[in-house]
Amino acid sequence: MALAILGGTFDPIHRGHVACAQELQERLGFSRLDLVPCHLPAHRDSPDSSAAHRLAMVRLAIEGLDGLGVDDRELRRDGPSYTVDTLAELRAELGEKPSLTFVMGGDAFNSLQHWERWQSLFEFANVLVMERAGIASKPAAEVLAYTEPRRMDAMQITTLPSGGFARIALQPWPQSATEVRRRLQADESLDDWLPEAVLNYIREHRLYL
Ligand code: ATP
Repeated sequence: MALAILGGTFDPIHRGHVACAQELQERLGFSRLDLVPCHLPAHRDSPDSSAAHRLAMVRLAIEGLDGLGVDDRELRRDGPSYTVDTLAELRAELGEKPSLTFVMGGDAFNSLQHWERWQSLFEFANVLVMERAGIASKPAAEVLAYTEPRRMDAMQITTLPSGGFARIALQPWPQSATEVRRRLQADESLDDWLPEAVLNYIREHRLYL
């Protein structure tokens, strides 16, 4: 049993998210890879969507795709939740043995040192960083000092309950949610950047205008 978690705002979910999740599944063979939409602060500068809309779009995007799921636990809590708390909760549910891997993009990894109790992520899970197209890898020195000694092959972490670190280069995908929102607001072409069901949902509910 090897479970993987991909956390994100998914505001909205786009083809980059789905394609990366599918490629990870194909290459590493997780028993399941769950997308975990996070709570967002009520007021942000950009036009954003309610938790219910973000969750509905994630469900639509992965519908019928083998091995992918959605875990809405962070949205069911009142306030924001830290990834480390989510992983601790999952670990308590899974027990000690199953492999649990938290997946993040290279942009997120570049600021890992600012995450709450980031070292403790490794107590409950492995961490897998997927390179992100167009984003240079420049993790903080303190993060490198912590992760490099734990580094192993991506395949290896699927056999380890927690504590492992790996990087993986996937097929590059240019999508970003920020750029999706900008294009929608500017009424520019989305070039197939969203799964069709997600685009239909956005139009139907008049999101990101
Ligand atoms: P934004 O562009 O607004 O920052 P986003 O596209 O990164 O949003 P998130 O929901 O924050 O969307 O992404 C969830 C996770 O997926 C993050 O760890 C992010 O780094 C990763 N990710 C998103 N898009 C890509 C992509 N095109 N290639 C690789 N990783 C990605």
